[in-house]
Amino acid sequence: MALIVQKYGGSSVADAESIKRVAKRIVDARRAGHDVVVAVSAMGDTTDELLELAAEVAPIPAPRELDMLLSSGERISMALLAMAIHSMGFEARSFTGSQAGMITTADHGSARIVDVTPIRLREALDEGAVVIVAGFQGFNRDTRDITTLGRGGSDTTAVALAAALDADVCEIYSDVDGIFTADPRVVPKARKLPIVSAEEMLELAANGAKVLYIRAVEYARRHGVLIHARSTFSSSTGTYVLGAGMSIPDGEEGEKMEEPIVAGVATDLSQAKITVIGVPDVPGKAAEIFKVVARSGANVDMIVQNVSAAATGRTDISFTLPKSDSAAALKALDAVRSEIGFDSLVHDDQIGKLSVVGAGMRTHSGVSATLFEALSVSGVNIEMISTSEIRISVVVRGDDLAEAARVVHTAYGLDGDVDATVYAGSGR
Ligand code: ASP
Ligand code: MG
Repeated sequence: MALIVQKYGGSSVADAESIKRVAKRIVDARRAGHDVVVAVSAMGDTTDELLELAAEVAPIPAPRELDMLLSSGERISMALLAMAIHSMGFEARSFTGSQAGMITTADHGSARIVDVTPIRLREALDEGAVVIVAGFQGFNRDTRDITTLGRGGSDTTAVALAAALDADVCEIYSDVDGIFTADPRVVPKARKLPIVSAEEMLELAANGAKVLYIRAVEYARRHGVLIHARSTFSSSTGTYVLGAGMSIPDGEEGEKMEEPIVAGVATDLSQAKITVIGVPDVPGKAAEIFKVVARSGANVDMIVQNVSAAATGRTDISFTLPKSDSAAALKALDAVRSEIGFDSLVHDDQIGKLSVVGAGMRTHSGVSATLFEALSVSGVNIEMISTSEIRISVVVRGDDLAEAARVVHTAYGLDGDVDATVYAGSGR
């Protein structure tokens, strides 16, 4: 008998039928003799709808009230799920994040979990109940207010519960079968990975893979939680995310695979590129530019500086950032144009980022050559390059991204024999 934490995303509890299907899955685990704790997201697109509603009554909703509003989405699904389990003859009890002891920082909309005190959850488990916890929310002790953890925060709720309760596994259910070597919607020959290391998962998630949220993976790695990402729509084994020293549970080895050099190819269309043209090539200019950009709240990813033209002593600096940050960054930079002394700004939101991730890169050479060769053969132009120890990323035209991902996937020998199953969902 094990203690299992399960997390169901919004697409898994989108309507009454899906809630009943999830209830059945939970009851199956209970019948098998396991203790079950469930973290649940808001139904379908509820969170987006609540955000739209808020925007209709106030241009900038008060953060405290927005968290009150958004946290209600998860309350709906947790109560319905508990009821559905009752009607199957099993005991279940739902708890808000605050009742579950999710103690967070006070930052509305992006609170971090600082402590979990699951006293009531343990009591309910001891009494034989399935425990359902509203994902994505918590409570701050100083302000005594309800907080939310940021979009996709229910993954983190689940992992934090698994850590606090010392669960055997944290199963994260969505509408995809696990972690794939690429987004199957972009690369049909993508394969499901039986395992992925936590560090690879972090790089994949940071570079566009949407199945798991970075914060949840970080939390799991730090607290030694075993994540199993799998699908609500099938009973097959998904992907285990292994931190240092972790291993797959016995009997779950599944299809054995040789340790690949490259774990996967991630694609990201959410970034834009800003080029600062004609920057005086003297010390301190990059510092000035990126101080201004940082103050605008933008999260800069890649940076490239060209060699300066000998005739002018000026250079161009390009960087990428989330599209949603670019308006603020452009405005902030434009305000200091004469002060910094650059000529102009160019904004390009038609870029795509492709990243190749694999722990094997540390010990293998030629990994980047394979990438560049594949892109060159297919005529895709590279605009920017950046690397980490286990990742190579390139910026290409957004229109080229899907084709680039397919050829690169093939070049690293990642293609499966058959096309991947894609359920009609969002990947959440
Ligand atoms: N309901 C929240 C969201 O849509 C949290 C989650 O789904 O994990 O972002
Ligand atoms: Mg959601």
